[in-house]
Amino acid sequence: MLQRIPDRVDPWRLAEQGETLEGRIKLDSLPRLAPLLATADGEAAFVLNFGRDRRRRLIIRLGVGAELVLECQRCLDSMVQKVESEVCLALVRDAMEAGQLPKELEPLLAREGEYLDIVELIEDELLLGIPSSPRHEERDCNRQTDAQAHRLSATERKEDNPFAILADLQAGENDN
Ligand SMILES: [Zn+2]
Repeated sequence: MLQRIPDRVDPWRLAEQGETLEGRIKLDSLPRLAPLLATADGEAAFVLNFGRDRRRRLIIRLGVGAELVLECQRCLDSMVQKVESEVCLALVRDAMEAGQLPKELEPLLAREGEYLDIVELIEDELLLGIPSSPRHEERDCNRQTDAQAHRLSATERKEDNPFAILADLQAGENDN
């Protein structure tokens, strides 16, 4: 269901109600993400669920999905990077509480009564999905150097002749 999402929410109240917020957000409305995109026309889908775990920790489950259009760092053409991620955040008051969390929970620092900017949370998660140097898969890239083209054809030859792998392994040290 598409909801009008508030920018800031009270996580304590939402957790008591076991609330789920679900919706879509325009990529060009995310000030840190948008400049990294080749085109920021699209949207990201998100689901946020608030609750408490058995130890009464306030837990936010966040799922985001988007197809981000990035610039390939090799051929400078656009490429689509699919981001689908889920994270379990636990609200903590300080670094000591953060250190006590089991590793499946990510600490999120918040003071009691403080409101949370959920758009920022969604943006953080999308930013984590962007590789530091995005590139097409070699075979999809528009700029294949001669060496890469050569390597591709060598891979194809291997399918015909399994013994070529042995020769390749022996020659491997010189490849890099
Ligand atoms: Zn490319």
